[in-house]
Amino acid sequence: MADIIRLLPDHVANQIAAGEVVQRPSSVVKELMENAIDAGATEIQLIIKDGGKTLIQVVDNGKGMSGTDARLSFERHATSKIQKAEDLFNLNTKGFRGEALASIAAIAHVEMLTKTEEDDIGTKIKIEGSKIVTQEVVVAPKGTSMLVKNLFFNIPARRNFLKSDQVEYRHIADEFHRIALAHPRVAFNFYNNGSDVFQLPGNDFRKRIVHIFGRKTDEKLVPVEEETQVVKISGYIQKPEFAKKSRGEQFFFANNRFIKSPYLHHAILGAFEGLIRPGTHPGYFLSLEVDPGTIDINIHPTKTEVKFDDEHTLYAMLKSTVKHSLGQFNVVPALDFEQDQNLDTPYSYKNKTVDIPQVVVDSSFNPFETAQPVKSNTNGGNYKKPKVDGWENLYVGLETSADSGASHLEFESEVVNSSIFDNEKEAVDHSTTTFQMRKKYIITTIKSGMVVINQSRAHQRVLYENFLKNITIKEAVSQQLLFPLTLSFSTSEISILREIKENLCTVGFVFGEISDDGVEISGVPVLVVESEVQMIMEQLISDFQQEVPGDSFSQSDMLAKTLAKTLSVKTGETLDEFSQVKLVNDLFACKETTLSPFNKKVYITVTENDIERKFI
Ligand code: ADP
Ligand code: MG
Repeated sequence: MADIIRLLPDHVANQIAAGEVVQRPSSVVKELMENAIDAGATEIQLIIKDGGKTLIQVVDNGKGMSGTDARLSFERHATSKIQKAEDLFNLNTKGFRGEALASIAAIAHVEMLTKTEEDDIGTKIKIEGSKIVTQEVVVAPKGTSMLVKNLFFNIPARRNFLKSDQVEYRHIADEFHRIALAHPRVAFNFYNNGSDVFQLPGNDFRKRIVHIFGRKTDEKLVPVEEETQVVKISGYIQKPEFAKKSRGEQFFFANNRFIKSPYLHHAILGAFEGLIRPGTHPGYFLSLEVDPGTIDINIHPTKTEVKFDDEHTLYAMLKSTVKHSLGQFNVVPALDFEQDQNLDTPYSYKNKTVDIPQVVVDSSFNPFETAQPVKSNTNGGNYKKPKVDGWENLYVGLETSADSGASHLEFESEVVNSSIFDNEKEAVDHSTTTFQMRKKYIITTIKSGMVVINQSRAHQRVLYENFLKNITIKEAVSQQLLFPLTLSFSTSEISILREIKENLCTVGFVFGEISDDGVEISGVPVLVVESEVQMIMEQLISDFQQEVPGDSFSQSDMLAKTLAKTLSVKTGETLDEFSQVKLVNDLFACKETTLSPFNKKVYITVTENDIERKFI
């Protein structure tokens, strides 16, 4: 048999390597910006169009390249940054593989313009799909400009795989944030489709954070500083009361490189333990400096995971340093009797008005009397205790149950909840009998036996279909707020809000002005209580951050799901009889009744036969 093994031609090998290095436009942004940093630039411009699909340009004022180097830089494994294997253990640069430019040039149209300080004239190289088209001598300023057009022009499958411009833009913005935060002294400009997104002057770390995440961030920051033989820790944490639903503002840098480390993240969570409300995430911007010999970043070209030699020590130091900062800046209340409670109620409870618990605990409640439902204002198809604001009701609910020390049976009979459907009472079929069990299930009878309904899931289903319908037919009912709310968000959160704004309007939100760090809301869907708006917005942003919906259909779906999840009655909430009946009727009027929007079983049936069998 003839020999069949061949060496792949360079351009094919490069294309294969490109698959590793360049996954999406943001990978190109990362590589080009890191090259600019490595070249010692003090000013870097990033220009993109259409989510980076049509154009990505990075212009720096770094050291530039000679004509020969310029050409060589597109060869695979061509690098000026390491010479021998040992250099790998003493890296001070971002790049070292010499793969990036070769990979990018294999799958895009690239134009490089570069000049060194010493040379009088510069070099311009055009390269497309690994083939050099032209190389000219041109007049150029010191530094390098890299222009990357038509990414994946020769790999249609990859090009089609790219997400919408907005989604790709968001990946690029994330990458930009990481690099700009890691190098506060370098000035950055960022332009997207001709308009400028960021003009960041070279600055200190704190100012850089504030420039990126908005003016309001400044008051939230607490400095962290510690130096030991193993590590120098510096940066900022956000005060616990500003912990958010979204994880957007969590950054670790190791030797000026953005890294992800679930392990070290855990150390921070440990330090914040008991200080932030459940389901929220502390913000941090922490920079670790270690001896380059004790860190291995050589895992994968696109991965941000690193390996530290002594992770356990780092963990312990990080945790205690952060704790120390929280204490030192009086973020943690001192342990005296007056403030002690704040440790258990980690949000700024002292600012809350005392009437919250009063609303819930019915002082006239007498377990030996027939319970009287409390009347209150109605505000639409809401099954919740209408006066209890926001998520605090979870806490308040817990407090009540702990204080009273009563058995569950007593709770079942406690009808705290008012009916909020007074004016539509007639609509409900009074022949239905319902019963609430353990503040979690609604039990009702059907011909063949009984149904046990999970109240929270059932309500999620009802709300989900309702919102989805509103989004589709675009006619939601919204209530005008007396005073518009102004909520503050970071620039990246604002960009997510802008993306989903249209859909939010279809469910009933009314927006006023949206600036770079805040948004004005003048109307909300009927189901939404004003005090919950901030929480709902945060939840939405966080959901969208974690799972990027590709098209508008999945965007609507996600929005409906998030709203349903946030607004539904929860386990632990007492429903009065009327609300129980309405929930049951609403559920069975849904298109789908058996599953919640999150694919969980909504109810089970127990037939008479099942029951009879138990009696045998
Ligand atoms: P690496 O960064 O891993 O060395 P790259 O393919 O990214 O590999 O770049 C190859 C080489 O091209 C670099 O080692 C550097 O010498 C040169 N180079 C790339 N970009 C620039 C730039 N913006 N300014 C100066 N030199 C650059
Ligand atoms: Mg590089």
